[in-house]
Amino acid sequence: MRDKRYYPYSDYLKETFGERVFKITIDGGFSCPNRDGTISTGGCIFCDETGSFSMGHDVSLDIESQVQKGISYLKERHKANKFLAYFQAFTNTYKPLNELKKIYDSAFCDESVVGISIGTRPDCTEDEKLDLISDYPHPQLEFGLQTIHDETLKLINRGHDYKTFEDAYFRAKKRGIEVCVHLILGLPYETRTMMLETAKRLGELEVDGVKFHCLTLLKGSRLEAYRDKIKLLTEEEYANLVCESFEYLSPKTAIHRVAGSGLRSLTVEPKWINHKFHTQNLIDKIMWEKDIFQGDKCNI
Ligand code: SF4
Repeated sequence: MRDKRYYPYSDYLKETFGERVFKITIDGGFSCPNRDGTISTGGCIFCDETGSFSMGHDVSLDIESQVQKGISYLKERHKANKFLAYFQAFTNTYKPLNELKKIYDSAFCDESVVGISIGTRPDCTEDEKLDLISDYPHPQLEFGLQTIHDETLKLINRGHDYKTFEDAYFRAKKRGIEVCVHLILGLPYETRTMMLETAKRLGELEVDGVKFHCLTLLKGSRLEAYRDKIKLLTEEEYANLVCESFEYLSPKTAIHRVAGSGLRSLTVEPKWINHKFHTQNLIDKIMWEKDIFQGDKCNI
C-alpha cells in the first residue's frame, strides 16, 4: 500500500528497476528553436536564460564528466546504484541526427546508467530522431506542453499547438518511448475549468508521467514585463488545483513532480514556490481531508 494518494515517479522507478533510481541532470549544449530565431527569438514567456535548467552545476564539463560527477554525488548521498541520464536544458533533440547519437551515446558511459530521459518540444521530434531514441534502454521523452488550450499556447508563445503535441505523442508511444508531460497551472487567463480540461485529456491519453509546475516569475523571463498584469496562484490555490487534476489523471500515470522547480536565485514570485516540501505536505493533507485519490474521475 502506498503512503501517497497519488502515484509518485519514485515508486514507479522502484517497481520497474527493483530499487531506487536517480536522475542525473545533464546539459548537452543544446539551444531552442523558440529562442534562436527559427520559430521566434523571445521564447516561451516564462522561460529564463537557463532554458529551464534546474541545476547549478558546472555546465562547462563534457557529458561523460557530468555523468560521472552525478554518479559519485548520488552514490555518496543516497547510496544509489542505478541512474537515468536526464537531458534537461533547452530542446534536447534540436541537433542533426549524427550529433544526437554521439551526445546520447556518451551518457551511457557507465553501466549504472539504465535509461535516458530527454526534455524537448513536440515540434522537434522527427521520426528518425524518435527511432534513434527508441533504441536506448528505457527511453523517455519529456514534453513541455503546459496546457491543451491553443489560445493559451499562443499567448505564452510556445510556438506550437496542441495538435502538434498529440502527433508527437502518438509517434513516440508507437515506438515504445515513455512520455512525461509538463504542465503549468496558473497560466494567464486560464480558468480552473480549463486547467482541469487539460488534466482530463491527459487522463484520456493515459500519459506515462506528468510534472506539475506553478507559473513562476523568473528573472530574465519575458513574464517579468507582465508582473503587474498577471495574478499568480497562492500556495493553497495551486495545491487544490493539483489535487483536482490528480483525480482526472489515470492512476497509472506516474507523478514526476508536484511542486517546486527552477533555480531559487532566479525566482521573483511567488516565493512560496521555494518551499516545495511544504507544498507537497499541503497536497497530501488536502487529498486526505477530501478523501480523494489519483484517478477518481478518470473515465478510461
Ligand atoms: S521553455 Fe523550453 S521550449 Fe520554451 S523557450 Fe525555453 S527552452 Fe525553448
